[in-house]
Amino acid sequence: MDTPLLISSQIEFAARFFNSVEVVTRTVEGPIHRSSWGETARRAKQLANALQAMGIKRGDRVATLAWNTHRHLEVYFAVSSFGAVLHTINPRLPLDQLRYVVDHAEDVALFFDTTFLKLAQFLAAQPNPLRHYVALTDAAHLPADSGIQGLRDYEGLIADESDQFTWPTFDENTASSLCYTSGTAGFPKGVLYSHRSTVIHSYAICMADALGICTADVTLPVVPMFHVNAWGIPYATAMTGSKLVLPGPGLDPVNLLELIETEKATNLLGVPTVWMALLNHARAQGKKMTSVKKVVIGGSACPPYMIEAWEKEHDARVIHAWGMTEMSPVGTTGVLLPQHEALPDAERFAFKRKQGRPVFGVDLRLVDDDGAVVAHDGKTSGHLQVRGPWVAGSYYKRERDEAHQDGWFYTGDIATIDPDSYMQITDRSKDVIKSGGEWVSSIDLENAAMSHPSVQHAAAIGLPHPKWQERPLLIVVKAPGKDVSQEELHKFLQTKLVKWWLPDAIEFIDALPLGATGKVLKRELRTKFADYKLPEAADRPS
Ligand code: AMP
Repeated sequence: MDTPLLISSQIEFAARFFNSVEVVTRTVEGPIHRSSWGETARRAKQLANALQAMGIKRGDRVATLAWNTHRHLEVYFAVSSFGAVLHTINPRLPLDQLRYVVDHAEDVALFFDTTFLKLAQFLAAQPNPLRHYVALTDAAHLPADSGIQGLRDYEGLIADESDQFTWPTFDENTASSLCYTSGTAGFPKGVLYSHRSTVIHSYAICMADALGICTADVTLPVVPMFHVNAWGIPYATAMTGSKLVLPGPGLDPVNLLELIETEKATNLLGVPTVWMALLNHARAQGKKMTSVKKVVIGGSACPPYMIEAWEKEHDARVIHAWGMTEMSPVGTTGVLLPQHEALPDAERFAFKRKQGRPVFGVDLRLVDDDGAVVAHDGKTSGHLQVRGPWVAGSYYKRERDEAHQDGWFYTGDIATIDPDSYMQITDRSKDVIKSGGEWVSSIDLENAAMSHPSVQHAAAIGLPHPKWQERPLLIVVKAPGKDVSQEELHKFLQTKLVKWWLPDAIEFIDALPLGATGKVLKRELRTKFADYKLPEAADRPS
C-alpha cells in the first residue's frame, strides 16, 4: 500500500500500543512530572487544535527555545503532525545568530521555556516575523510584566481544546523540522528534514546494531531536543514505546545521577563533556550506575578513558557514534563485529575508539583534495563524504553550496576508514595541524593526553612554525584534585605517540571554551593563543 511515512503515525502508534508507558520529566519549575505516551498524544492533539485557532497553517515555521521536557515533546509531535515545520533553536546561539535564524526561517510562533525569557524578550523587542509567543509553563509560573505582547502560557493555551484531532495526510516529502548548524564559522545554515527522512532515520537508529532503541529500554537523552532533534530519540522512542526520561534543564551530574537511579535508566545518550562530569560525580559518591546498560556517545570524539570507565566501573556498553546536523544526525555507530568484540580488552578498545561503521542507509567514502577517492586502508586520511536518504541534499534557502558535489556531501571531517569499514575521525578539516606537509591528528593527540589520569580535558591546536609550517600546542585542563607537570605529561605522551606528533608546548587552563553543542571552540583557542611563542629551540622531532 502506498502509505506515506509521517511523524503523526509514530505518535498514533505510541498512543495505541504504548498508551501507559511513562514519559518522565525534570521540569523547568523543579518537580518531577509523570506523563505517558498516551497523554503526550492527547495533549499534542489539544495543541494541534490550538495551533489551528492561532491561525497557523501547514508549512508555517514554529520555533522552540526549550529543554528536553514533556511539553517540548508534545510540541514536537503536534507541530510536525499538523503539517507545520518545527524549528528547534539552540538557546546557546549568540544573539545576532538567534535573530538571524528566526528571520531566515520566518518563524511565526515561538514556544519557549521560562529559562529563556530574556531571549524571547530580546526577539520581541525588535522587528521580526513572530506573531505568537507561548511560555512552556502554566499560568502560575507565567512571568509577570514580561513586556512581550500577547504572551500566553502553554497550559492555558491548550486547556480548553479538544483532544480529538485528525492528523492530516500529505506527501511524505513535506518538511517536518528545521535545525540550524552550530555555525562555528559565519552564520548558521539551515537543514530541513522531511517526514520521510525522519521516519526512515528513526527505523535505522532503532536497529540493534545502530542505537538499538527498544521497548525494554528506559531511554534518557541528555542530548538536547534543541539540537538535531536530540539525535532522533523522541521519534524512535515513540515508535518503540521505550520509557522516556527527560532531564529538563538539569544537565548537571547531581540531577542526572538521581534520575538514572530513580527511573532506572538503561540507555543514555549525550556528548562526552556531560559524561565527564557525571563519571567524576559518581566516582566521588562511590556510586555504580547499575541500571545503565548502554551509553551512546557522540558529537565529539569520545576520549578512550571514558569508554573504559563506563565499561569497567559501571558495566555499561559504550556505543561511540558519529553524525552531523546535515545527517539527521546518525551516520556511523561503534557496534563491533563479532571477531572484534571477542578480542582482549586492549585491542577491543582500540576498535571502540573509532567512530564505527555505517548504519544501513548511509554510504561513505574518503577523497583527497582533488576529489579522487583514496584507499580505505585505515592509514590514509581523506575528506569524508556521505550520501543517503536522511542526508540533506542542500541547505535551506541557500544558493551557494560547496558542500554538495557529485551527489555526495562533504562533511568537513577528515577521517580514515579501515579494511573492516570502521571509520575514524582524525580532525575537522579546518582544525588539522599541518606539520611539514603531513597532518598531525589533533584528536589522537588529545586522546593520548586524556588517557593520563590527571588530565580531564585537552585540546590541540596548530601554531605557526618557521620551518614546519605548524606545530602542535596542547592545552590541558587538569582533573579535579589532580596534578601533573608539563614535563611529566610530555614524557607520558612519548610512550603513546609518534615523535613528530608530540606537542611543542603544553599549557594548563581552567576550562576549555565550549560551543553551543558542547564542542571545544578551537577558533577561540587559536585567538587566545595567537601570540603564544613556542619554545625557541622547538624543532619537529623526527
Ligand atoms: P553537529 O552538526 O553540530 O552535530 O556537528 C557535527 C560534527 O561533530 C561532525 O562533523 C564532527 O566533526 C563532529 N562529531 C560528531 N560526532 C563525533 C564523534 N563521535 N567523534 C568526533 N567528532 C564528532
